[in-house]
Amino acid sequence: MGDALSDSNNADQFLVTAIRSGDQRAWRQLIDRYQGRLLAFARTRLRGPGEAEDALQETLLGFVTSLAHFDESRSLETYLFAILRYKIGEVLTKKNRRKEVITGFDVDDDSPGIPDPASVETPSQFAAHHELTRQQADALAIILRKLIEEFRDRDKLDDLKVIELLFYVGLRNKEAGERLGRDEKAIAGVKFRALNRLREYLDELPTEERNLLGNASVSSEATVSHVWRDRRLSCLKRSTLGSHVLGVLDEPWASYAAFHIEEIGCLMCRANLEDLSRESERIGEDVSDRMFQSSVGFLSRRGN
Ligand SMILES: [Zn+2]
Repeated sequence: MGDALSDSNNADQFLVTAIRSGDQRAWRQLIDRYQGRLLAFARTRLRGPGEAEDALQETLLGFVTSLAHFDESRSLETYLFAILRYKIGEVLTKKNRRKEVITGFDVDDDSPGIPDPASVETPSQFAAHHELTRQQADALAIILRKLIEEFRDRDKLDDLKVIELLFYVGLRNKEAGERLGRDEKAIAGVKFRALNRLREYLDELPTEERNLLGNASVSSEATVSHVWRDRRLSCLKRSTLGSHVLGVLDEPWASYAAFHIEEIGCLMCRANLEDLSRESERIGEDVSDRMFQSSVGFLSRRGN
């Protein structure tokens, strides 16, 4: 099934280029494409009246006012989710009721991930400060993605479940074995082979990147779990989620999808799923209009 996120990247790049040139229709299109899943995600975390809509609005404003800093080689969806998570974190911190609303395995918003693009006063300073972390995270993401793709390409999704529980969720071998109904020794074997593969992939990296990860002082933001969530390494393609909704996904993908969504409780995939399952209802031209009207001014004012 290849890379989970790359299939829509080309379309997104066109869109971002058009938005950068001030194309309002493109901006509207971006809102239409992403608001459903972003709003569904926000609603899993923010329950107060209007809170989720406000966070979505803030996210779109944050994106449009920081367009200059968006790196098009990255996934637009992942970037938007990251801004949204940041905005949600802000609201929850303010309300000081974070624990109540956490319902799935996503959170850990204590680690800032990416900054709020709209609130960075001097982007170049910020970028310099965070460059090392990002390079480390990039290098780590490369080798983890290779490992995950290898499991997928070989249909070894049961083993992927194991490393997702160990590396992403942070379970111990015994706990992962219990969750999956597998022998602890088998779990240890999967882990052993996965770590060996990661070492091999590390050796294949160019020296510069390899040294970044060889450095013992890799910052906490570049830890495996953080990178895994931030880059959505094991998230499902929207088309795969669509098949899952329709119940036409073949095994072993069907059981893997259920695992990722229900056992791991990935809130971003859940949000996508929810968005997909009510796409036919068109969750609201009015929301879409409001989002467009409140943000489009920033587009034209930027004037580039
Ligand atoms: Zn996911």
